[in-house]
Parts: sequence; structure tokens; C-alpha cells
Amino acid sequence: SNIVIAIDGYSSCGKSTLAKALAQKLHFIYVDSGAMYRAVTLYFIRHHVDLHDHQQVAEALKNIHLNFHSRDYQTHITLNDEEVSEEIRRMPVSDNVSAVAALREVRHEMVKQQQRMGRSKNIVMDGRDIGTTVFPDAQLKIFMTADPKVRAERRYKELYEKNPDITLEEVFENLAHRDYQDTTREESPLIRAQDAIILDNTNMTPDQQLDFALNKIKS
Ligand code: C5P
Repeated sequence: SNIVIAIDGYSSCGKSTLAKALAQKLHFIYVDSGAMYRAVTLYFIRHHVDLHDHQQVAEALKNIHLNFHSRDYQTHITLNDEEVSEEIRRMPVSDNVSAVAALREVRHEMVKQQQRMGRSKNIVMDGRDIGTTVFPDAQLKIFMTADPKVRAERRYKELYEKNPDITLEEVFENLAHRDYQDTTREESPLIRAQDAIILDNTNMTPDQQLDFALNKIKS
């Protein structure tokens, strides 16, 4: 049957960098589950969905159609046929995504779609609950962590290219806030699966992380 590699961890730990590298090396499909929560959040912002109103949330979810287009192992995601890959990385989405991702209805729908994607293909999926909830039977689970300051600096460098107004403090605060919300929510909080291998990449290059992961793949 098909193989699933689950990569979870805190915000901006380099999950997607490792997941993409693994997918490329193994010729697997890469799925960025965070992009799905971000696209839902973009829709909620645009349509002023009240997060406390279950009916509004359920109704909005019915009107949201997400699609991944994998090209060159980058995340290309459409929200109702609109390419939103860049917009979902901006601060308004980053500031609201963890509140949206805490909603039971939202998680239920995303997990269902994610499980469907992993049913027939070999995939590498990164997120917060992939090894615990989405694919508890994944063949390889990695839980990534890194020094919070190092994470903020890495993310700041990435974002600064497209958004020179951003500050390091703002990025640091956003990561801390999301980690807090993601680890304390009721519905499948961010937690290491018991059988996940910890990877602290504070002092590791991307190549070293790829080698580490490849070495853990059971044959
Ligand atoms: O991975 P990324 O940082 O883009 O994810 C954005 C947010 O989406 C996370 O901070 C988290 O709140 C939510 N998320 C989640 N479960 C996942 C992936 C992302 O709750 N599997």
C-alpha cells in the first residue's frame, strides 16, 4: 500500500523545507496542510465569518473549494479557483489562522480532505496534527522543533523579501502566539505523537535534516 510521511512541529521550524526535500528525493507528493487552514482563513476574513457562529462557519465551509496544484514541489493552492498561494502568507491571514484552525468544524473538514489525499498516493504532509490525528499510522513521523529566536529570524528573512514593512518583533510575536494557540486548543492540539522522532534543527543545515530523515525511513 502507499506510504505516508508525517512532519509536525511548531511554527516556522522548517517543516515545509524538509517535507519538500523529502518529497523530491522520494518522488512523493508534498502536501502543505497549513496552506489549507490559511486558505479557509482568507475566505473567512473576506466574508466576515463570525467564528462563534457555528451555522455561519458550516455554511462558509460548504462554499470553500480548495485545490492543490503540485508543480516544482512548491505549494500552489486555489480557493474557489483563485490562486491564493501568496496572499495566504501575509500577516492578516497569519494573525487569524490559529483561531480558525481551532474550530472543530474546520478541522473536521480539513482532516477529511487530507485523509483522502493520502489514501492512494505516497505523500509527505506537514502540519500540526498529521502524525496524531490525520495519519496515526504513518510509516514515518517527525516532530520538528528549533530555538524560537532562530525560527523568527528565518521566517523574517523569508517574509521580508516580499514585504519590507514587516518587523522581526512582529514575526516573533506571531509565531509565539500561534504556538500558544495551537498547543492549547481543545481539538487535536499540537503535540508530539508518541512514535514521532524529534528533530531539533536549530544548528542543522537543510541537507543535514534531509539525511537525518532519510536515515529514519524504515525499509
Ligand atoms: O504550517 P503553517 O504555519 O502555514 O500553518 C498555519 C496555521 O494553521 C498553524 O499555526 C495552525 O494554527 C494551523 N494548522 C493546523 N493544523 C495543521 C496545519 C496547520 O492547525 N495540520
